[in-house]
Amino acid sequence: MIIVMKTEASRVNIDAVLDRVKMAGCKVHPIIGQDRTVIGVIGDGTTIDRHQIGRMQGVENVMPITKPYKAASREFQPADTVFNVGDVQVGGESLLMIAGPCAVEGRSQLLEIAHACKEAGAQVLRGGAYKPRTSPYSFQGLGEEGLQYLAEAREATGMPVITEVMDPALVPMVCEYVDILQIGARNMQNYTLLNAVGKANHPVLLKRSMIGTTLEWLMCAEYILSHDNHKVMLCERGIRANETETRNTFDINAIPVIKQLSHLPIIADPSHATGRWEYVGAAARAAIAAGADGLIIEVHQQPELAVSDGRQSLKPERYADLVKQTRVMAEAVGRTLPDSNKKDNLNGNVHLMDKHQLGAVL
Ligand code: PEP
Ligand code: MN
Repeated sequence: MIIVMKTEASRVNIDAVLDRVKMAGCKVHPIIGQDRTVIGVIGDGTTIDRHQIGRMQGVENVMPITKPYKAASREFQPADTVFNVGDVQVGGESLLMIAGPCAVEGRSQLLEIAHACKEAGAQVLRGGAYKPRTSPYSFQGLGEEGLQYLAEAREATGMPVITEVMDPALVPMVCEYVDILQIGARNMQNYTLLNAVGKANHPVLLKRSMIGTTLEWLMCAEYILSHDNHKVMLCERGIRANETETRNTFDINAIPVIKQLSHLPIIADPSHATGRWEYVGAAARAAIAAGADGLIIEVHQQPELAVSDGRQSLKPERYADLVKQTRVMAEAVGRTLPDSNKKDNLNGNVHLMDKHQLGAVL
């Protein structure tokens, strides 16, 4: 339920409500606004009497959360979630640009791509050290060695790093090396893993399963949030449909749907959503136009030699073009890319010109 306090409610009033709710065994998430405090309450609704809370001093209104996901819902938190990973902002007006190889293949491979991605304008480096492969005979990832290379690439470039974790037992170790944990599409509903990353209290990117509905996806986010880990972003990476020209079908609808139902940032993954590098740029621009909070893109210096997902990986120079187009698109929809990504030649005038030439660029 949501408890809306009166504007004139005192600290004592607020504390009394918090104590009452906690005594009933519920979790509280107070949001202290400029104007008033709103208290989100999560727990077994049978242990607490809504009307009794409504009669407490300083309480204006008590409303049930109608959705099965509570902490993930807009009812629970009307304002968008915004958080920081190092110096990088996730959510809010600025867009998050994550890029890097599908898999960490080696030290020099990763360092080279990391520098190229940073140069092109990426803020966060991606790279898989544990790869969920369809075949057990395919490359499974470098494991901890790959994590060490990611940590080294972070040192070298200053970019926070993200990697997929698949085994709940490895979560604490992976947290030692990386800044953001990725839950892959195949593990979206791995509840043991969701609980482990929730408890780790590390930022998480939760990918949507290729067969997951929005409701199932948000319920999975709820698992992580239920451990009071609020640094969660969602990722739309394409769903299964009967189309065979592309690897998956990019569910563009998911972006406005999530924006309406949830306050969590939504990142688009046009690489896995299309499966072909030729279509990645178009899907990326569409995602930004639809309101996505950022992009996660696979980049490889020699896609034809990549051990995984080469077919959908962009060469660094193509990624640099994509960032430029994203910047134009961002401006058109009232978003920004952080200053650190601005190239010297992109001053305000160029931005303006680009905006007017949007049709030509796209
Ligand atoms: C990946 O990011 O490389 C990956 C395996 O993604 P997904 O879980 O979306 O398939
Ligand atoms: Mn991949």
